Amino acid sequence: MSATIIDGKAIAASLRKSITDQVKALKAKPGLAVVLVGDDPASHVYVGNKIKACHEVGIESFEHRMAASSTQKEVRHVIKNLNANPSVHGILLQLPLPAHFDSDELIQTIDPEKDVDGLTIANIGRLVAGLPGIVPCTPQGSLLLIKSVREDLTGLHAVVIGRSLLFGKPMAQLLLNEDCTVTQAHSKTKNLPEICRQADILVAAVGRAEMVKGDWIKPGAIVIDVGVNRMPNGKLKGDVDYAAASKVAGFITPVPGGVGPMTIACLLQNTLKAASISR
Ligand code: NAP
Repeated sequence: MSATIIDGKAIAASLRKSITDQVKALKAKPGLAVVLVGDDPASHVYVGNKIKACHEVGIESFEHRMAASSTQKEVRHVIKNLNANPSVHGILLQLPLPAHFDSDELIQTIDPEKDVDGLTIANIGRLVAGLPGIVPCTPQGSLLLIKSVREDLTGLHAVVIGRSLLFGKPMAQLLLNEDCTVTQAHSKTKNLPEICRQADILVAAVGRAEMVKGDWIKPGAIVIDVGVNRMPNGKLKGDVDYAAASKVAGFITPVPGGVGPMTIACLLQNTLKAASISR
C-alpha cells in the first residue's frame, strides 16, 4: 500500500484564493503589523515571506524592525501603539526574540483581538473552553489538512507528539474539540512506538529528523509531519521517516510542502478574521 499525499501547497493555495476574494469584498483593507527584533537570519526570511503573502492577498502590512539592542520597554511600547492603531487588525511578534527579552510578557501585551498567532492567555483559554477565538496558525493549518481527507473525526484516536504552547498543546485541544480521543506524548513518554501504533491520526511535532519510524504507524493512519529539520546537505526533513511511513499510512504530509504552506495561509486567515471582529 502507498499512502495518499496530502498536498499542503495546493490546499494552502486554495485557502489563499478564498482569502483574496473575501478581502476584495471588504471596504477597507485588513492590516497586519509584524514586529521583528534582532538579526536572526531565519526570522528575516520568515517575515519577508509573510509580508509577501499579505501583499498577494491584498492585506496591508506594517513592518517594525527593531535592533537586537532594543529594550523590553521599547518593544512593549511599539506593541501598545499597534494595539491602539485602528488600521492594524493583526499583530505578529516574530519569535524567537533575542535572549534578554521576556517573550511571554510581550506576547501577553498584544490585544487578544489582534493576536493573530493565538498565543495570548485569552485566546488559549477560549480554545480550551471551546469558545470562538483566534487559533494558533500551525495547528489550525494541520487540522485543515486532516479534515481535507476525513471530515468527521469523531471517536478517532489521535496521538500528538510534542506539547509546546505554540503547537502541541493547541493541536491536541483542537483534536479534542473534534471529539477525538487524544494522547499527548512528550520527551518523558514511555513506549512511544507502541502508543503511536494505536493512532488513527498521528501528528509529530518534535524537531528530530525521521524520529517516527515506519513500524510506528498504524496501517491506514493519517500522518501529519510538522517537524522541520535542516540536514547538513541543506535539505529539509520532517520528524517522520517519510519513505517507510508512506508504505503503511493511508494519508501523509510531505516535508516540505505539507504543513509549512498552511501556516502562512492560516496567518492570513487569522488577520482577515481579526479585521472582521473589529468592524
Ligand atoms: P519545541 O517547543 O521544541 O517542542 C518539542 C516537543 O517535542 C516538546 O514537547 C518535547 O517534549 C517533545 N520531544 C522532544 N524529544 C522527544 C522525544 N524523544 N520523544 C517524544 N517527544 C519529544 O518545538 P515546537 O515549537 O513545538 O516545534 C516542533 C517542530 O515543529 C520543530 O521541528 C519546528 O521547526 C516545527 N514547526 C513547524 C512549523 C511549520 O510551520 N511547519 C511551525 C511550528 C513548528 P518536552 O515537552 O518533554 O520537552
